Amino acid sequence: MARNDPDLHWVQIRHSSYSRIGPLVQAGALQPYLGRLSGFPGAQVWRVDSPLTVQSDHQCSIAGVPLQAALHHQPSHAYCAMVAASPHFTQYAGTGELSRLLRSHDDWDPGGFAHALEATVRQGRVPLPRPVLAVPPTTYLTHWLADRSFVSRLSNGHYMLGLSYTVRYVPPPGLARRSAVGLDLGIDPLTVAHTDTGATRYFRPTSLRHVGQLPRLSADTHSLLRDLIYASGRLDGEGIVAWLNFHAHTVYAERINHMGMSTHWIHSGRDRAIHDHHFSALSQYLFASGVDFRRVAPHHTSTLCAPCFEHQGRVVYGLRAGDRFRCPACGVNLDAHANAAHNVLLRGRMLPPRGRAAA
Ligand SMILES: [Zn+2]
Repeated sequence: MARNDPDLHWVQIRHSSYSRIGPLVQAGALQPYLGRLSGFPGAQVWRVDSPLTVQSDHQCSIAGVPLQAALHHQPSHAYCAMVAASPHFTQYAGTGELSRLLRSHDDWDPGGFAHALEATVRQGRVPLPRPVLAVPPTTYLTHWLADRSFVSRLSNGHYMLGLSYTVRYVPPPGLARRSAVGLDLGIDPLTVAHTDTGATRYFRPTSLRHVGQLPRLSADTHSLLRDLIYASGRLDGEGIVAWLNFHAHTVYAERINHMGMSTHWIHSGRDRAIHDHHFSALSQYLFASGVDFRRVAPHHTSTLCAPCFEHQGRVVYGLRAGDRFRCPACGVNLDAHANAAHNVLLRGRMLPPRGRAAA
């Protein structure tokens, strides 16, 4: 990704819309694209060569042909820019309050919450110029490039929609980027950060366990609840970005290929958001804000003793039991995630300078 390339965010197209893509290619609304793109390169890529408009979180149209896609699965700054530039966008009013109730779970009333969800869906989607399921970060000025979109067919046969944005970062007052930081990325904790001053910081996901107490919901209501759960996971991830943007000049994270996703529906919605965050949003946010972000090799970061390596240059494998890590050589007994984040930082600091090897 060159610095002047627009940011590209990929979202899944729903299976039910796959049959509409062939006719769009035949009609010339999708043109074969052979340039280089970041993110999901795909087995086959088309550039959208016809007006793309957005009607809701779940629907857009190309040349008037509706496509179902997870448009709300974008980082907040991009999603909000898309909504702001979509005059025909409709959404459920009142979901902002539902989101607050879901996340705060003070005075949690499952029956009352289910009733409010059902009532919101019954009222239907209404035109609203500002998204209610995301708050645009004030530090990112983002503009949607509606005439630069792509459709990609992955080698597994699935289709993705790529939306483009220009992004400018506006530093907050008092910006204090003093640290290099290693990250251990996961589900819970969401992230553990270890700084080069020896500090450790934990980011935990907002608990949604209470959602399991809800009564059975209609299909549309369940879909809205899933959107709320996704938005909650995204908000948790963006809290990490805000902290890193303020404190870190350099961030290292493991190169990850796959993360375990929960099969329970409550957690699968949240895990999807976390997955999207760890895989793409985190690096895109930091790239846009000028934080040096680099991935390191992931092997053994959770079993090597970071203090032994840092202070004595010794490679010692420790014992991990659940969330604890114990070193047989120096005797430390640490939180395993903190030790892993420390290893990521040490490994990152040994990377060759940029430009001499691939990041
Ligand atoms: Zn040790």
